[in-house]
Amino acid sequence: MSERDAPVLEAPREALLELVRPEIRAIRAYKTPLDPLPIKLDANESPFGLPDAVMRDLAERVRTIPLQRYPDLEVRALKSALADHLGTSPARLVVGVGSDESIGVLLTALARPREASAPVIVVPEPSFVMYAQTARVLGLEPVSVPLAGRDFGLDVAATIATIHARGAVLVFLASPNNPTGVAYRDEDLLAIAEACPGTMVVIDEAYGAFRPSREGRPASHRRALLPHTRDRAPNLVFLGTLSKIGLASLRIGWIEAPEALALELDKVRLPYDMPGPTQVLGAAVLGVHRAALEAQIAAIVGERDRVVRALASLHRVLRPIPTEANFVLCEAESASRAAEIHAALASRGIQVRAFRTSPLERHLRITVGRPDENDALLDALAAIGA
Ligand code: PMP
Repeated sequence: MSERDAPVLEAPREALLELVRPEIRAIRAYKTPLDPLPIKLDANESPFGLPDAVMRDLAERVRTIPLQRYPDLEVRALKSALADHLGTSPARLVVGVGSDESIGVLLTALARPREASAPVIVVPEPSFVMYAQTARVLGLEPVSVPLAGRDFGLDVAATIATIHARGAVLVFLASPNNPTGVAYRDEDLLAIAEACPGTMVVIDEAYGAFRPSREGRPASHRRALLPHTRDRAPNLVFLGTLSKIGLASLRIGWIEAPEALALELDKVRLPYDMPGPTQVLGAAVLGVHRAALEAQIAAIVGERDRVVRALASLHRVLRPIPTEANFVLCEAESASRAAEIHAALASRGIQVRAFRTSPLERHLRITVGRPDENDALLDALAAIGA
């Protein structure tokens, strides 16, 4: 029988699917609108492109990248630029293709595939969905602790109690949190770390650049808490990203951890995960074009404060929850009102984020845009409320 005549053994499709782990089949894929509306205020990105002169310089640098070669395995130039940016040593950094990858690196390192019961991680809810999602994919069990009250405060006692009760290996604390915009107190984060010495306490400062300034720079949990990692809280680990301050397309994130832990975590990254163009462009922007980023961050913070003030005066339509991020979570009076406002904004070409599931069915998350976009948003909301 020739090869052509051989019967094709077609595996029943169901049998193939059954090979896929049930916890993966149970989750829903991460989705955002693929063709967003013209005024895109739904994804916590920076609304500003880099200035033309900066883009021209970056284009020149791209011309020099040997695309036929693998990129620098150790990501040296980018790591050193990040270390300068943070005021730390490269040996304490583990880079990620976005902090999404960094979340996966941390969880992969803590997963225990050969053990009967899955390690537990704790996540205050609502928070960034990829913490729980990635945990499930990697065979860990996410356990949530509700945030407290209408303004979504951190419930320190409940967080500590849940970590103890479930023997959690890790807790993710995003501050400012997504999607609430709320920043927690340094003392509360430290209290959790001190009370749970056997747990990795991960402070995710994805939105840290937008916090109100303290001593001329944005308040930073990292700066406040690092001195305590020598004695009271050696279990603190920090996450960061350049995605929110204008470089989302490059996909640059990192974990900052004690050197010995960073060495272990670095083994989890896939070789050559960080593309050459990302390494070159990221290092250049952080190195020679940092002022352009800083100016844009300042503009976003100014616009955020203006939008929040205006929203507060439009109180009938949406209640803004106090935010320290580049977005503001707003509460409508009912789920149906939130859906109406979402649709009415969409009909005017404005994309904001709706959630539709508890406890956020009445909420919309609005990313701060350019001044003209924010004006269009505020005009539309005034018209809707009228
Ligand atoms: N952490 C938080 C709190 C986030 O909101 C996000 C993005 N939505 C991330 C991490 C991941 O960002 P990136 O992978 O772009 O670094």
